[in-house]
Amino acid sequence: MAPLVHTPAGLSTVVDMLELRPSCERCDVDLPPQSEDARICTYECTFCAACVEAMGACCPNCTGNFAPRPIRPAFLLDRDPPSTARVFNPDLMATPAEERPFP
Ligand SMILES: [Zn+2]
Ligand SMILES: [Zn+2]
Repeated sequence: MAPLVHTPAGLSTVVDMLELRPSCERCDVDLPPQSEDARICTYECTFCAACVEAMGACCPNCTGNFAPRPIRPAFLLDRDPPSTARVFNPDLMATPAEERPFP
């Protein structure tokens, strides 16, 4: 087995990276890679801090908890650019938490 190679950035090429989705799934606000308002669940469902607050800090897709999304250093964004695929589910805004399929 080949040893892991540590680059000056401290990363090997076999590491899966975060998608860094560009927007909130609930209100579609922009969440750029350097945003400190971005929150993600374990599946990287991505929401803004205000929506996480409104949803009771529980992911509507998987019921998991949220954590602040780590900021990718700007010098790595050229090499590992963020996702440009917006995920937007307006139903999350329209449907109260108690009417969703998950508790
Ligand atoms: Zn939002
Ligand atoms: Zn989730």
